[in-house]
Amino acid sequence: MNAHANATAPSRTVETTPRTPWQLAPGERPRTAELVGDLSVDVAVVGAGFVGLTAARHLAAAGLSVAVLEATRIGEGASGLNAGFVVPNFAKADPAAVLARLGEEAGHRLLLAVGSSADAVFDLVRDHAIDCDAEQTGWIHVAHDDAAARMLRLRADAWQALGRPVTFLDEGEARQRTAARLCRGALFDPSGGMLNPLALLHGLGRLAVAAGATLLENAKVSDARRDGGAWRLSAGGRSVRARTVLLCTNAFRGGLAGRLGTRLVPLPVYQIATAPLPAAEAARIAPHRNPLADTRANLFTCRLDRDNRLISGGMAILPVHAEGRMAHAIAARLQQELGMRHCPDVQFSWRGTAAISTDFLPHILRMSDGLFGAMGCNGRGIAVTAVVGRALADLVLGAAEHAVPVPVGGAGVPLGPFAPLMPSLAVAHARWQDARAG
Ligand SMILES: Cc1cc2nc3c(=O)[nH]c(=O)nc-3n(C[C@H](O)[C@H](O)[C@H](O)COP(=O)(O)OP(=O)(O)OC[C@H]3O[C@@H](n4cnc5c(N)ncnc54)[C@H](O)[C@@H]3O)c2cc1C
Repeated sequence: MNAHANATAPSRTVETTPRTPWQLAPGERPRTAELVGDLSVDVAVVGAGFVGLTAARHLAAAGLSVAVLEATRIGEGASGLNAGFVVPNFAKADPAAVLARLGEEAGHRLLLAVGSSADAVFDLVRDHAIDCDAEQTGWIHVAHDDAAARMLRLRADAWQALGRPVTFLDEGEARQRTAARLCRGALFDPSGGMLNPLALLHGLGRLAVAAGATLLENAKVSDARRDGGAWRLSAGGRSVRARTVLLCTNAFRGGLAGRLGTRLVPLPVYQIATAPLPAAEAARIAPHRNPLADTRANLFTCRLDRDNRLISGGMAILPVHAEGRMAHAIAARLQQELGMRHCPDVQFSWRGTAAISTDFLPHILRMSDGLFGAMGCNGRGIAVTAVVGRALADLVLGAAEHAVPVPVGGAGVPLGPFAPLMPSLAVAHARWQDARAG
């Protein structure tokens, strides 16, 4: 690599005013650098979230020179701000729907990779001793009514047919795992769990650096132009030349990220963490420490963190100045759904933006010669992004499109200026659906 980048030392500093509970135990930050001159590499990865860092690590390990350009600081995107549920499936799709959408062969490849993706994340954490409060306790999807219980039973059967150890718990069994008010049964996947996502992200960054990648912060890429057989990226008055560019910018739309972000629906998600619960109350709410989501259209989610804070989230119909309002609403919902006499104070409230694809599945876009875009999110980022990042690296290393588990397509179509309004309509519709169903 022809590198002109100044290295800065790794640090373990805790933010002065933490915005999330994750910043209380962020792990060691990876060694990063500032772009001080022009740079020439084999691969430029734009965006240092789970997808970008996973791809960078595999590519550097294969011997390519790799620079990761991050607009701000590592952890400022969804990967550092999410809720830390590790869930090896799709937010909105049954295995049957995936097969119907992608066809038998491509569908099976994606299902097998995603089904084992939580195991892959927890194995990585164990193999590299990444200190991120990982707990592979299993994930439960709680049915809020009888129709949802029937749907989850079929879904559990479908995952079993794919060789996954997923089971359906009847109401009695499910209630031994959760105090959730509406519980008519549950899907249980023992390979899921929870962790501190910021500490995982820092761990992935350290692995990428150890493999030889350079991580550049404060390097927002504003533009990319063809230059001979390569790409020339502009970042803060400097330029980076690369044969291949990977856009791993999720729902962001600033600068070069707009080429990918406009093909996704940006969904603002609000999160809270309460003060720690007394041990007995934590044991009543989640005796086996299973993170959970339920099946309502406006879904209810909750988990404990390592200090027994309750973590939950929600979406706003009007995502403008909504942080205080949403924190209050999420805490009230926790109290009601979990039968708590009172909800502990909200200690942290924050917001991030998830990226939703039109079919709720991950995709890789071949946007131009040597320019790929990756979408992995749809609210199931931690496990699924590991699959997407690896697939992206394999494509760059020469794998055929039909050999990677993530569908690879053309450039994709921009969704138009109204895409950011779609979540408001969807959230309003979801609340109406739940209210109508009683
Ligand atoms: C509040 C919230 C809660 C969530 N909870 C969960 C959960 O519990 N479990 C789960 O599995 N998933 C969850 N998700 C989804 C998950 O966090 C995402 O799917 C995942 O982190 C996406 O990773 P990424 O690498 O694609 O994007 P990101 O982590 O967003 O990374 C993109 C990076 O690109 C950088 N960037 C943008 N533009 C540029 C530019 N022009 N130049 C350079 N860099 C740029 C950004 O700064 C950012 O760091 C949640 C998401 C949110 C928002």
